Amino acid sequence: EAKKMGKNRYVFYNDELEKRRIRTAWIEQHLYTAISNGEISVYYQPIVDLHTKEIFGLEALARWKHPKSGFIPPSEFIQVAENNGLIIPIGTFVMETAAKDLRNLHNSGFDHLYISINLSLKQLKHPEFIQRIISLPEKYQLKPEHFQFEITETVALFEDPDLVRIIHQLKNRQFRIAIDDFGKGFSSIGYLKQIAVDTIKIDKSYVFDICSNEETAKLTNAIIAMANFLQLKIIAEGVELSEHVRFLNKHQNVLGQGYYFSRPIPFDQMNDFLQKHTTAVKSDWG
Ligand code: C2E
Ligand code: MG
Ligand code: MG
Ligand code: MG
Repeated sequence: EAKKMGKNRYVFYNDELEKRRIRTAWIEQHLYTAISNGEISVYYQPIVDLHTKEIFGLEALARWKHPKSGFIPPSEFIQVAENNGLIIPIGTFVMETAAKDLRNLHNSGFDHLYISINLSLKQLKHPEFIQRIISLPEKYQLKPEHFQFEITETVALFEDPDLVRIIHQLKNRQFRIAIDDFGKGFSSIGYLKQIAVDTIKIDKSYVFDICSNEETAKLTNAIIAMANFLQLKIIAEGVELSEHVRFLNKHQNVLGQGYYFSRPIPFDQMNDFLQKHTTAVKSDWG
């Protein structure tokens, strides 16, 4: 009996592995033509002041819609793109689209908004990609402060002197740097000081639990206190409920992002959203 179970488990394991291998191969194969076929687009999600409900910035998020298979989530294709190098053309497309869209929003009078763009370490390590970042403000007549780059905190980032140097280079040019998914994996105050980031984005797994788990609530309060002490800006991700807003509102200076305010939406919808939001700021979200 035990032997049989063991065998079944082995078969199951192989099945899963095989399915994943086939899926990755499919993604890889179809991702090559995704950009030229116009299947990649950029969605936007607002970053909101929890007290005033004012929108400060927009996070740009890549979307891939395959004509037959529909949306393939970034959690599936970004990793593949990092492994085969397609993250460079995809990242370039996201960045140029976001800058162009932000230029349009500034023209419509939303000239305080910044755009927040996710970068992977592969992108940071690519000299031409960094050159392209540096050329963005002039190209789109925006200030470097209008661009925030989100980097997921990893040991690899802080322990690589080349990467730390590149981040300093961007910082010195007044671009903003945010640490994404803060608290999810490895976290260290010492490292934060070392690279002088502007903002930490508290991982959504914390926010999901702040109202139901005492430990998480305390830990979140501690992270916010530490960030305040270091004079870092704070964005809480995954704000879905009014209870989340109420909890986070006990603190000053916390920005929020999440389904409570808006899901990530295409640019045209975001344009409408911003128009409506400015005329009815508080009534919408209490
Ligand atoms: P991220 O940078 O942490 O982005 C936030 C993710 O949380 C997004 O997932 C967003 O849709 C989701 N989210 C926002 N609010 C809520 C909420 O209230 N509840 C829940 N459950 N989820 C929420 P998405 O768009 O699927 O992206 C996943 C990850 O893929 C991103 O995580 C980011 O690291 C990566 N990614 C997306 N676009 C790009 C890109 O252009 N370049 C790179 N390098 N990575 C990207
Ligand atoms: Mg992000
Ligand atoms: Mg990210
Ligand atoms: Mg995140």
